[in-house]
Amino acid sequence: MIRTRFAPSPTGYLHIGGVRTALYSWLYAKKLGGEFTLRIEDTDLERSTEESVNAILEGMSWLELDYDHGPIYQTHRFERYKEVIDLLFAKGLAYYCYATPDELDQMREAQKAAGDKPRYDGRYRDFTGEAPAGVAPVIRFKNPIDGEVVIDDLVKGRVVIANKEIDDLVIARSDGTPTYNFSVVVDDWDMGMTHVIRGDDHLNNTPRQINLYAAMGAPVPKFAHIPMVLGEDGSRLSKRHGAVSVLQYKEQGFLPEALLNYLVRLGWSHGDQEIFTMDEMVEYFNLESVNGSPSTFDSVKLTWINEQHIKVASAEHLARHLSSFVAQLGCDLSQGPALSSVANLLRDRAKTLVEMANGSIYFYSDFDEFEADAAKKHLRPVAAEALQVVYSQFEALSEWDAESIHNAINTTAEELGVGMGKVGMPLRVAITGGGQSPAIDATAELIGKARCLTRIKMALAYIEKRQENA
Ligand code: GLU
Repeated sequence: MIRTRFAPSPTGYLHIGGVRTALYSWLYAKKLGGEFTLRIEDTDLERSTEESVNAILEGMSWLELDYDHGPIYQTHRFERYKEVIDLLFAKGLAYYCYATPDELDQMREAQKAAGDKPRYDGRYRDFTGEAPAGVAPVIRFKNPIDGEVVIDDLVKGRVVIANKEIDDLVIARSDGTPTYNFSVVVDDWDMGMTHVIRGDDHLNNTPRQINLYAAMGAPVPKFAHIPMVLGEDGSRLSKRHGAVSVLQYKEQGFLPEALLNYLVRLGWSHGDQEIFTMDEMVEYFNLESVNGSPSTFDSVKLTWINEQHIKVASAEHLARHLSSFVAQLGCDLSQGPALSSVANLLRDRAKTLVEMANGSIYFYSDFDEFEADAAKKHLRPVAAEALQVVYSQFEALSEWDAESIHNAINTTAEELGVGMGKVGMPLRVAITGGGQSPAIDATAELIGKARCLTRIKMALAYIEKRQENA
């Protein structure tokens, strides 16, 4: 059974680079009928926050990246880490290190001055003397001194590191809490991970981790290190480049599947296909086609992909994601048509759900004023007659559907001997308040008969007032 995981540290927002890693892990497990685990790596008590945990959970839930196990919190597993540390002590593979922070600083300075790479020099590795008073020791792992570590990375290929390059890792801090490199190995072992898919910022840690697996007598999973996501200036994508938190994309009106579609393509390809449903992603995803070099985040492309998903999403799905935006604008959804019908009508004109919500307002809320430019142009005295006739036509309709409305507008234009636009444009401004809307007949249908009639009256009053003031 394939088992993968996403293991974020809850020290900030859920970064979209992290989401891509989560997605790749999730897809890999789904594709191969495996299991996916969410693990919250919160052993760094100082930097971990509940707010960040909540942002991770909310992000995963919004993206519908469901997990078979978890969320598992590392802070709930301290007993287990202690047990494995005892195991390493028993095997003679762990030791207390009493070097003080000052001592370590001096060591590093001296190494730098000598032109060497700063590293722990192993001074307490074979220490048998009396423990220095007043120092709370850390626990270090006895990394092998000879030989080399080979990683056959599924994305990066073979990476070989000599053990003499690796110093003795701190596995527990002086307060007893385990460090990332240690707890991650215990967890990946205990949780039966077969594939560790993560950012290549962890590639440096992997040799240390492989040595720990060996020391614990645990099987070593396969690794796939995914290159970083870069900003347009070529540096690692960060807040400076704009939104990086997944929840910001939610707020900006992206559909979750569009964000995932964008992220799956960021560093992976399937021919030249750009738009993928979730099912297609699961079907086609593989690690072989993951690009070994970093990718650059492109918000224009993300927006384009969002637009494409908005066009094809089911009306119910759109409505589900749109409703909070519309509500935020003060619209009461019970005071208008089904939001799914509105979404259907607006889907071809919106790049984001924010745009779509802005276009939905007049279906739910009445307005006191017409948009100034549109009114100036289309609600002129010459339009009064058209509006009056279309009013009577509408009033007389027994069926209120797009077809009847269309016919009523047609009849009005014929009666007055003018083109459709001479009726349609003033009518559009009258019933929507502005000069932009989807097809006027379908729009009028959803706005509803009573509201359309009231608004046409309001437009006629506006024209009259305008005449008086002229
Ligand atoms: N907690 C680590 C991080 O957030 C993840 C490490 C891993 O996937 O092994 O960077």
